[in-house]
Amino acid sequence: MKISIDEQSGFCFGVSNAIRLAEEELSKTGKLFCLGNIVHNRAEVERLKNLGLIVIDHQTFRNLKDSTVLIRAHGEPPETYKIAAENNIRLIDASCKVVLKIQQRLLKTFLENPQNQIVIYGKPNHPEVIGLQGQVGGKALVVQSVNELEAINFSLPVHIFSQTTMPLEGFRQITEIIRKKMIESIGAENPPLYVHDTVCRQVSNRTEHLRKFANSNDVVIFVSSPESSNGKLLFEEVKKVNSRSYFISQINEIIPEWFENAVTIGICGATSTPQWIMQRVEEEIKRILG
Ligand code: SF4
Repeated sequence: MKISIDEQSGFCFGVSNAIRLAEEELSKTGKLFCLGNIVHNRAEVERLKNLGLIVIDHQTFRNLKDSTVLIRAHGEPPETYKIAAENNIRLIDASCKVVLKIQQRLLKTFLENPQNQIVIYGKPNHPEVIGLQGQVGGKALVVQSVNELEAINFSLPVHIFSQTTMPLEGFRQITEIIRKKMIESIGAENPPLYVHDTVCRQVSNRTEHLRKFANSNDVVIFVSSPESSNGKLLFEEVKKVNSRSYFISQINEIIPEWFENAVTIGICGATSTPQWIMQRVEEEIKRILG
């Protein structure tokens, strides 16, 4: 029996950086507010809470004064920085550098011509999308699927961006449909469609690797919190190539029958899954199998 942990699973550099900054502050002061969950993983959030991290929502943030607050990797809209300045809040800004660049690009596109139609392929309530919308005063159109494109005026220029964690394939599909509709509407072969491919390769590059990893193991244990959109997405890919793949968020969800006649067992996870949890899963499987 061979059990292996996928080396490429685990935190992306944006999340690693946010956790490092939180740990540094907590080791000095033992107390730090974090605006929203620092990572979509309950166990990791729990670990940091035990070190003194206090997760707050935006309503609580508005009423907070004279404190230190961490901004997580998803980034924030400009309003958050304004409130911090007004309320004497010291910010530890862990916005991912990739997200910050997209925010700047979006703002530049908007300022160059406020009439530009800006489309974001993403989830309207996702914190990263809220941060992006904040750059353009909420004027971007957020779409999750091809059924939501009616609001676009296909005879005018369109700039399309993506939430970093959306599937690359979905972004390409939606872009091509917009292109076709613009061609139909304008009658020109090269319509003014500006494609800003902002899908993060830290996520999309993992898909192919995970498919291979899942294929090379008899049983796959995929570890993630159920609320992680990246986790759901990657698990779907894993399941497609290996039907003996199981999604767990806690060690006690492991069922011994899963491993019947298995020779190779692979453990992997999302960009929000800490390595230490995957190591615990490995220990638990070893314990179960004696
Ligand atoms: S997924 Fe990409 S953009 Fe998002 S935090 Fe990680 S590295 Fe940054």
